[in-house]
Amino acid sequence: MYKQPLDPHLMDDLLIDCQSCSGICCAALYFSKIDGFPQDKKAGVPCVHLCQDGLCAIHSDLTKRRLTGCIQYDCLGAGQIVTQSLYPKATWQEYPDKKERIFSDFVKVFQLQQMRWYLLQCTCLKGIEDLLSDITLLLTEIKSAFINQECLKNCSLPNLHERTNIILKEVSRRFSHQWSERPKKPMFSKKFDHQQFVETDFSMSLLIGSDFKNSQLIRVNFLGADLRQVDFSGANLYECLFLTQGQINAAIGNQKTKLPPYLKRPDSWK
Ligand code: SF4
Repeated sequence: MYKQPLDPHLMDDLLIDCQSCSGICCAALYFSKIDGFPQDKKAGVPCVHLCQDGLCAIHSDLTKRRLTGCIQYDCLGAGQIVTQSLYPKATWQEYPDKKERIFSDFVKVFQLQQMRWYLLQCTCLKGIEDLLSDITLLLTEIKSAFINQECLKNCSLPNLHERTNIILKEVSRRFSHQWSERPKKPMFSKKFDHQQFVETDFSMSLLIGSDFKNSQLIRVNFLGADLRQVDFSGANLYECLFLTQGQINAAIGNQKTKLPPYLKRPDSWK
């Protein structure tokens, strides 16, 4: 399914680097206690644990405190792009008058990074050679949208979204024969362990708490699926499509879980 050899640095600038950020996600976004964050908080208000240097005061305690929302969140590198490239001389802490703009640009860059993540995954696949020139063009356009503040202001997110969706739908069609655009029924806590799934379409599915222990998942599509507390211990996900680090961080797994290229095994997976 994958072209060989894979470029080990393909996703480098989509990996989070909190040290190069100013803690934007911990201030810009709305979050709630019920989703595993320390408090109910409005968008734009810094978390009580966020330090002036943009780092988390309780970072080493997040697991002990069961702050799963904080552990699972992944900005796909949007935080460091905004801090280092778009606003290199002005963090939101130093320039409160720019705060709103910085936060809304972060949300935009996050969406652009999400599109890049999916499109870059497509470039690793065999059998989509005829789509490659469109994908490459779109990737260049998306990346140039955050070269500077002006480009970001002028870029049309709906247009980029629409073109990305067309490509993802086409790739989904080719890799999962059962793929359908129709909404799926929720499948909370379903038993799927020790089974083989080939080209199954779980895109946009609510699979919270389901059990996929020791399953073989071959060319299974997880685009946008809710995988919170889904158990993938011992499962083979190597050939799954459109998984993100955030989905994997929210799931359960172990050392035997086989992940697709470019995804990191969460530290909590023993
Ligand atoms: S607890 Fe730490 S990681 Fe979680 S939102 Fe607050 S500052 Fe961010």
